[in-house]
Amino acid sequence: MSAAIIDGKAFAEKLRGRVAALVPAFEAQAGRKPGLTVVLVGEDPASAVYVRSKGKATEAAGMKSDTIRLPAETSQAELLELVDKLNADETVDGILVQLPLPKQIDEQAIITAIDPNKDVDGFHPVNAGRLATGLEGLVPCTPLGCLLLLKDRLGDLAGKEAVVIGRSNIVGKPMAQLLLGESCTVTVAHSKTRDLPGVVRRADIVVAAVGRPEMIKGDWIKPGAAVIDVGINRIDAGEGKTRLVGDVAFDEAVDVAGAITPVPGGVGPMTIAVLLRNTLVAAHRNAGVPLETGTI
Ligand code: NAD
Repeated sequence: MSAAIIDGKAFAEKLRGRVAALVPAFEAQAGRKPGLTVVLVGEDPASAVYVRSKGKATEAAGMKSDTIRLPAETSQAELLELVDKLNADETVDGILVQLPLPKQIDEQAIITAIDPNKDVDGFHPVNAGRLATGLEGLVPCTPLGCLLLLKDRLGDLAGKEAVVIGRSNIVGKPMAQLLLGESCTVTVAHSKTRDLPGVVRRADIVVAAVGRPEMIKGDWIKPGAAVIDVGINRIDAGEGKTRLVGDVAFDEAVDVAGAITPVPGGVGPMTIAVLLRNTLVAAHRNAGVPLETGTI
């Protein structure tokens, strides 16, 4: 059997299109565009690439995009002052402080300072609490992207056995909450889990968010399972070249799974698409303009 390949790139493009199509109606009612401000501290090259693509995607969706670049030696107090200013700015619907931050800045202090209603990354403890208690909030982009792919592929997820590998605040924990919200039976596996292959073999849905290249082997996958690979790992491809692989041994798993995301082109493109979605959702809530979230 060969799994269906879940095309995250195509799905993300459609989602971006749906978001862009809803922007003019917001603008007409609110008298302004939805606005996303991204803050980049320092010159980490990978972060600079992410920030540039977020800015481009925001503009392409017809939204207002601002990028604030601060020097690597910026103090925590200076960054907190900027966050306060953005919290008070009514034209800013989403604030995204690109992580990681330089070591003199406590990331949690910055995340907690962002107005939860502008926290388009969904990392604020208030949004984590809203997600855990089933209240409306802003949900971390990558796990929400995974859920959208799963629902698109499988429809109703109720009653399915889901195993999430990884328990980070950014991916694993919110992913588990989202699947629980869909009435899956959820297991969260992590670095201390005993018999990980045995745990994964129970799963109808596997979400791998570990950061270890091709760690999850094909014979761990239950035949027909849906496999969502969040991992992005750069490995040596010989002759001085590198290539990207996921946390799942794709070539093995593709023969067993029912559906699987490739790396690249699976979960990766969903993150920015959901960021735009979250910005639009935040804009509607902040401006008091109703939005039927079922449409995006
Ligand atoms: P993290 O390092 O914060 O968390 C990794 C988790 O994996 C931890 O909870 C740990 O307990 C678990 N783990 C480590 N070793 C393990 C083992 N041997 N067995 C089982 N569990 C183990 O990472 P993260 O931020 O959650 O990211 C995970 C991966 O997803 C990374 O490869 C990252 O690059 C990728 N990622 C991709 C996107 C995207 O596609 N847009 C977004 C975020 C993260």
